[in-house]
Amino acid sequence: MLEECEICGQSTGKLYTCRVCGTKFCRYCGSFTDKICIDCIEKPATETYDAPEAAKPGSMGEVRR
Ligand SMILES: [Zn+2]
Ligand SMILES: [Zn+2]
Repeated sequence: MLEECEICGQSTGKLYTCRVCGTKFCRYCGSFTDKICIDCIEKPATETYDAPEAAKPGSMGEVRR
């Protein structure tokens, strides 16, 4: 009995387990050399990617006389 890929749902034979999320994926749904599924490839483990010190539009330097 072949296990199904948890991403594409097909039984293509050998499955690999993602080392990040644990999803079993086939050779088409991730990098089996890196043991990482396509979901985890697309969104890297870097958590919050915010622009550092975003310029806050508060005081516009409006000069009143
Ligand atoms: Zn698949
Ligand atoms: Zn994954």
